[in-house]
Amino acid sequence: MNKPEKLSVAAGQLQVPAVPIIPFIAGDGIGPEIWQAARQVFDAAVKRVYGNERRVEWKQELAGQVAYEQTGSWLPAETLQALRTYLVAIKGPLTTPVGEGHRSINVTLRQQLDLFACVRPVRYFAGTPSPVKHPERVDITVFRENTEDIYAGIDFAAHTSGAQALLTLLQAQQQADKVRFPQTAAFALKPISSEGSKRIVTAALEYALAQGKQTVTLVHKGNIMKKTEGGFKQWGYEAAAAFGEQVFTTPEYEQIRQQHGAAAAQVAQQEAVRAGKVIVNDIIADNFFQQALLQPEKFSVVVTTNLNGDYISDALAAQVGGIGISPGANINYQTKRALFEATHGTAPQFAGQNKLNPTSLILSGAMLFEYLGWTPVAELLRSSIGQAIAQQHVTMDFARALPAAVELSTSGFAAYLTELI
Ligand code: NAD
Repeated sequence: MNKPEKLSVAAGQLQVPAVPIIPFIAGDGIGPEIWQAARQVFDAAVKRVYGNERRVEWKQELAGQVAYEQTGSWLPAETLQALRTYLVAIKGPLTTPVGEGHRSINVTLRQQLDLFACVRPVRYFAGTPSPVKHPERVDITVFRENTEDIYAGIDFAAHTSGAQALLTLLQAQQQADKVRFPQTAAFALKPISSEGSKRIVTAALEYALAQGKQTVTLVHKGNIMKKTEGGFKQWGYEAAAAFGEQVFTTPEYEQIRQQHGAAAAQVAQQEAVRAGKVIVNDIIADNFFQQALLQPEKFSVVVTTNLNGDYISDALAAQVGGIGISPGANINYQTKRALFEATHGTAPQFAGQNKLNPTSLILSGAMLFEYLGWTPVAELLRSSIGQAIAQQHVTMDFARALPAAVELSTSGFAAYLTELI
């Protein structure tokens, strides 16, 4: 058997040894239980696909409540260093420290490692209890910008020198009269840059091209925030233009419509579809929420700013009944660093009960294996989850809504998946 090695990058490509060292953060609350379950399933799937040729050397790192209790730090420097060094890692949920001056560890990790793309694929697993009539029509991958927007955390409380200084600046810019109650207002800043926008839209387009997806939709609120959200849209189309003949964009469509009429623009778009080009369009965020409920099949890859992306990912996940089972990844496609994570929280009231669902973490692991290029492992993980749900062998959260289901514990569900693998 080969010895464990670090992942590396050569000529812009991730180099994956036969036994990669991959750090994991088990997390707080239900984290350790779901991690143990997920790890068992990961190892079984790798063994099934590659026998003794490949395996993962999992390396434990600390963060969150556990880290705080053991080291006095919520995010020890060694953990951050390990995530930098080993490039690809996976984590369970972490407690967000409560109180003045503390930031979410998740947000800190994303910003410190510049993991600019939050990737959330949302699809339906047949048999999952869902609140909508046709959850199977949802198959949407969300690319959420992860480093900008109001998540920069530049937030001035009312009656502080920061708020006053900002107000003074607004007065100098003749903008102060736009603030309805200037003396009692708190203020937050929303930085959105061309670099930040272009790199996330480029990542979404590259994903669409690699995966044979038909459309990429820019979701924004540019009708109100013309410079920030509107900037995102404009820079997004500029990023798309760099893909030349591989894409067909709404500005191209509009240009043809103005010069040759709507029929000609339609024909050009149909030809682009036939030629396998990715159609790049945009939609205002509030309309997106409506359309995603009414006609989700119209969307395939969606790319958006940080706060929109936060809402959109959860709303879409709820549509497929997947709020507790949705996977997520935070990726920097340039440095190749990536952190895969369960998207739910620590569910502290269930900690230690061996009851909740490890699927979010397992499907995040499937994304990790795909990222490593171990696609058959990813497929095996997804198909075994699909089978277990279809056979109604599920954990408590699903069993509650499925009267005929066999309710399994967290570890029982992992054992069932391992059998299927
Ligand atoms: P939560 O996601 O932990 O729990 C909300 C509810 O969702 C739970 O009561 C449970 O009914 C359900 N749920 C969550 N995970 C589930 C699973 N795996 N299987 C089945 N059902 C599941 O949200 P919360 O209670 O708002 O937050 C608790 C803590 O988690 C807070 O400290 C919060 O900051 C943190 N948090 C962390 C992350 C993260 O690390 N990515 C994300 C969200 C919240």
